[in-house]
Amino acid sequence: MGTEVRNVVIIGSGCAGNTAAIYAARANLKPLVITGHEPGGQLTLTTLVENFPGFPDGIDGPVLVENMRRQAEKFGAEYRRGAVEEVDFSKRPFRLRVDNEWIEARTVIIASGASARWLGLESEQKLIGRGVSSCATCDGFFFRDRKVIVVGGGDSAMEEAIFLTRFAREVTIVHRRHQFRASKIMVDRARSNPKIKFLMPAVVEDIYDVEKGYVTGVKLRNPETGETWITEVDGVFIAIGHVPNTAVFRGQIELDPDGYIVSKGGAKTSVPGVFHAGDVQDRVYRQAVTAAAAGCMAAIEAERFLEAEGY
Ligand code: NAP
Repeated sequence: MGTEVRNVVIIGSGCAGNTAAIYAARANLKPLVITGHEPGGQLTLTTLVENFPGFPDGIDGPVLVENMRRQAEKFGAEYRRGAVEEVDFSKRPFRLRVDNEWIEARTVIIASGASARWLGLESEQKLIGRGVSSCATCDGFFFRDRKVIVVGGGDSAMEEAIFLTRFAREVTIVHRRHQFRASKIMVDRARSNPKIKFLMPAVVEDIYDVEKGYVTGVKLRNPETGETWITEVDGVFIAIGHVPNTAVFRGQIELDPDGYIVSKGGAKTSVPGVFHAGDVQDRVYRQAVTAAAAGCMAAIEAERFLEAEGY
């Protein structure tokens, strides 16, 4: 059991967590940030960020998030590599287990974000990083003059497909039904790109070739007719949405049926003293700037909570 009770423990080190850390550190609360499985969050998976205010020429995602961390550390935030394995929010101080060590906290800011959703095929998991990817901006470069598919029918799928045409010879969007979830403007953009083809309705049944250790093709099925066939491809990009990283909070705070934290106004969760920030609660905006703003709100609320409790 750790001896010191921390004022603020921030779970997650993406835009939301880092901004919460900047604000909490400047309020002299000496926050502890647990970096999580994906330190830096979604911004580390992007290249140029052109819509974060203050950077008229854009800034690389990983640089932006690293700058935020340095800014927080400058004011006294402490970072610890690792992931939260278990929490007890039933009484105060709250308790969090990180690498088998229990940490105690007066307030907690959950900024654990959301991770890419996968199809759930065994072959998919075995071929991640070997032709299967969830991030075109990270891996598109490796598919110059290659043939790839993008799975999904949302804005992410359109965006990834359009991005991939910078490198790939041919990009096919594979979607399980005839209607798109994506906005019309994104579908129109994809449709008008000569390198992009559409294959609908179709689902990926298997990815080859696990034995060879790289992607050579996919088995597809038409869900309406049941017909199956095999197509040669060099890359499979999965763009079927995200899953909030809240498994460890189940039963501790209120989550919606998809696992997102239910907000109780501002940055409040169902447990007083536990706050949310960023994509772990936000299924609508999901932007770097909105996550940063949410981190700021959570830190201010944590500060006020501590003040009201007499700390
Ligand atoms: P999304 O809107 O939830 O779309 C997910 C897509 O994946 C849906 O078409 C869904 O099919 C499909 N899907 C889900 N599970 C599947 C499975 N197991 N097998 C096959 N297909 C599956 O997710 P998103 O595209 O990541 O977008 C998330 C949010 O970010 C949205 O609000 C979006 O507008 C926003 N966004 C905006 C932009 C932009 O404007 N530039 C870019 C990216 C994201 P069904 O439709 O059949 O359910």
